[in-house]
Amino acid sequence: MNHEASPPTALTGLTTDGLPTDPLESRVTALVERITVAAERANRNPADVRIMFATKTQHAQTILAAAAAAKNLGIDVLLGENRVQEITAKAATFAELGTTAHLIGPLQSNKINRALDSLLTSASPGWVHSIDSITLAQSLGSRAFARGAELPVLVQVNVSGEETKSGVGVDNALDLATGVAQTPGLSLRGFMTIAARTHDSELVRQGFSTLRELRDALVATGDNGTQHATELSMGMSQDLELAIIEGATIIRIGTAIFGPR
Ligand SMILES: *Cc1c(COP(=O)(O)O)cnc(C)c1O
Repeated sequence: MNHEASPPTALTGLTTDGLPTDPLESRVTALVERITVAAERANRNPADVRIMFATKTQHAQTILAAAAAAKNLGIDVLLGENRVQEITAKAATFAELGTTAHLIGPLQSNKINRALDSLLTSASPGWVHSIDSITLAQSLGSRAFARGAELPVLVQVNVSGEETKSGVGVDNALDLATGVAQTPGLSLRGFMTIAARTHDSELVRQGFSTLRELRDALVATGDNGTQHATELSMGMSQDLELAIIEGATIIRIGTAIFGPR
């Protein structure tokens, strides 16, 4: 089959070989195909890898269209935003989708209250993927606790050690996660990372493998508060296959769905 060769037929919305002409739907389809191939290589069930759309800088209409395209293909996606302000500004969009975005960018302490205002509004609250210090965990936890909430969070680890990257260092990650697991108002769900910016795929894969080992070591302690810390939020448009092979449970995808920013 040569897909490029098939002109779209306006009447059916399908190309002559039956592919959808909606570019968002085609991109979701291509993404699902990549996930399936990688999961099969790793002997994993593709359904155990959840897709998060990283929606930073995207307009409401684009986010709604992308979520609808996924839904048409039977996929419920998570949504991730990098900035509290953007989650707040797009609150109506996320509400329309019956959810709120997860916060996947850094959280400054002066934004905690506004973050909680947004994250705790819907029946499925957004998680914070970027816990990188015990100070942040405790202020976030105590304020969530005061609102009668238990906020799902991930500890972000800087597996590459690159100075420009956020996240706790690998050597301190287990201590931090243990502390977060004991923090009232927070529910530790696992770990998040952004891989090294390199074409050296072995290095990228090692970083993902480090995150998995941290998760396994934490869960193996059996400590109170660690039993739900099973998630691995890792893998983006460039490196999702390596992340899935190393156990990713949530991949965060921007470019492969929305195009270059
Ligand atoms: C933008 C972003 C992504 C998605 O990156 P792509 O390479 O565009 O898929 C994932 N995670 C975080 C934290 C991001 O900021």
